[in-house]
Amino acid sequence: MTLKMNAGTQSLESIQKLNELSGENVKLCMQCATCSGMCPMTAEMDYGPRRVMHMAQFGLKKQLAEINTYWKCASCHACTVKCPRGIDIAKVMEALRQQSLRTGQNKVEPSQMSAETIADLPQIAMVAGFRKLTS
Ligand code: SF4
Ligand code: SF4
Repeated sequence: MTLKMNAGTQSLESIQKLNELSGENVKLCMQCATCSGMCPMTAEMDYGPRRVMHMAQFGLKKQLAEINTYWKCASCHACTVKCPRGIDIAKVMEALRQQSLRTGQNKVEPSQMSAETIADLPQIAMVAGFRKLTS
């Protein structure tokens, strides 16, 4: 996926909204990429956490709405504990998921899962996953 940035897509309001929702300040990120180095899910993500933080710093709301990173984030907090700027990146990912859900974008729909998948998944993992991803 190609990241396109232009003045028309940047939004100060979107940065403020994300900061409010997450309780973090994305502007503190110094782009060291420690988070991406720690993240066990980067192979599944359109962009690693470092690049997502960069997009968030520029308020690229439209681009952020189109990527899968925060849906793939496992909330493991590996990035959070190592961030040298003390940013709780997992909270930023959670806030991005919340923003997406508020616009009606729901990437996890239990009714669309196959019976085989449901039978294979541990119940506790399913309940935890649905709580995290759908509310
Ligand atoms: S570890 Fe922290 S400072 Fe470094 S890129 Fe990630 S969010 Fe930014
Ligand atoms: S909390 Fe999410 S973004 Fe951070 S390391 Fe874990 S999976 Fe990656």
